[in-house]
Amino acid sequence: MTTDPEEKRRVDVAIVGGGACGLMTALRAAADPDLVIAVLEKSSREGCNAAISSGSLAAAGTRFQAAAGIVDSPQRHANDILAASGDEELRPVVEALCKVAPEFVEWIADTGYPIELGVDMPRAGMSVPRLHADTGRLCGARLVRHLRALLDRSPNAALVDEAKVVDLLVDNGSVVGVVVEQNGSRQEFLAAAVVLATDGFAADPTLRAEHLGDLGNPFYAGVATSTGDALRWTAPLGAQLRNMGAALRSGLVVIDHGTRVSPALQFNGAVLVNASGERFVDEESIGYSALAGILRRQPGERAAMVFDATAMAATRESEMMRDCLAAGAIRDLTTLAELADVMGTSENRASAAIAPRPGRRVLRPPYHLAWVTHGVLTTQGGLVVDAQGRVLDHAGAPIPGLYAGGGAACGLAGPHSDGYSSGSGLLSAFGMGWIVGNRLAKRAA
Ligand SMILES: Cc1cc2nc3c(=O)[nH]c(=O)nc-3n(C[C@H](O)[C@H](O)[C@H](O)COP(=O)(O)OP(=O)(O)OC[C@H]3O[C@@H](n4cnc5c(N)ncnc54)[C@H](O)[C@@H]3O)c2cc1C
Repeated sequence: MTTDPEEKRRVDVAIVGGGACGLMTALRAAADPDLVIAVLEKSSREGCNAAISSGSLAAAGTRFQAAAGIVDSPQRHANDILAASGDEELRPVVEALCKVAPEFVEWIADTGYPIELGVDMPRAGMSVPRLHADTGRLCGARLVRHLRALLDRSPNAALVDEAKVVDLLVDNGSVVGVVVEQNGSRQEFLAAAVVLATDGFAADPTLRAEHLGDLGNPFYAGVATSTGDALRWTAPLGAQLRNMGAALRSGLVVIDHGTRVSPALQFNGAVLVNASGERFVDEESIGYSALAGILRRQPGERAAMVFDATAMAATRESEMMRDCLAAGAIRDLTTLAELADVMGTSENRASAAIAPRPGRRVLRPPYHLAWVTHGVLTTQGGLVVDAQGRVLDHAGAPIPGLYAGGGAACGLAGPHSDGYSSGSGLLSAFGMGWIVGNRLAKRAA
């Protein structure tokens, strides 16, 4: 395939990827009417992780929290994330993202998107409720549709679909555009700024084997488009990578179905029992990403999540539980004898295994059970960026013309998947999109 030299186009901002980070960058940059913005999307049909996500937005100090009487702050949010990740070197980026989180969540709401505080969405390591979600819990797909519709109304920005970026254009160390493959031909887009919003590399077997081999053979619950393209283009530029061995994992993937049970189940009395009939973790104290590693070490890399009608009632409106119920992924067991049978143990041992820890609820029949295993949702390692989203080289200097955010950039989990805090994926993506988009708009103003 050749590049037609006549086919050069010129934009102010070329955004690679039309998921969470790309859309937010474009919407914010488009506020400057003097900018021409192209969002180049590999394949809307194959999709972005934002669209299959739960759409839970972590933000502290929002008006939604205030209305619920919850006292919180961006600083507390950043401290919670850093306490889990241990990655103090990333503090400036984490603090910058947490600072803008209430701004972008309220802005999304002000564009007509129905947001509420998820008071029914407790998560390990989150010191107060701070996940926000859409009312009705139609989740990421609804949010991406909403943001794409907003972009459609921006006269100076366009989302170009089936436009796969295959390389960067570089002139004397500066990034000056991208090479796009579309309809069997290549075109060059010259741009004053290029934003990498391509997400991570979880769908690329070679990169996964290189960086995440120690995760074993997890179920992959992300999209096919996360193939680490940005990493390949930026390696010749000397871009710095960080925390490549970390991923957003889930220990709540239902075996044979690929759906996930709600992480709120544990906070409503649900217990995890392994295939030997033993409890192996304090269910409330562990996040779902860290749980994946613990599950991997259990016999058969699986465990039974056992809960009851009260826990079901508290969680069944989440999209995860709706998916599980629609898929027939949850078994209903009327008596302790039936539960013991499915667990492959005696009634006495089953009764002992589901006994509550001090201060927790007693599970009452009828019971529900799902066999869960570990999976990977997205990667967390990536390009090192500064608090303004500029991609840094090995010497710590910004590569001129190049920005990155979301899963293309280093995430907030720290060096290990156990350090992932709920809501940090979209925080990185929308937060950095907000920062970069605002910066580009301001700079041109
Ligand atoms: C099942 C699941 C549930 C999740 N739930 C949550 C949640 O509730 N809260 C949360 O905070 N995080 C959640 N996450 C994580 C979150 O979805 C991601 O961290 C986030 O979507 C990353 O945003 P992004 O913009 O970097 O990537 P994406 O949203 O994946 O968008 C990247 C886009 O780039 C495009 N692209 C890739 N390569 C190219 C190329 N070469 N040329 C052009 N386009 C390209 C892709 O096609 C894609 O559209 C979840 C993830 C999964 C898989």
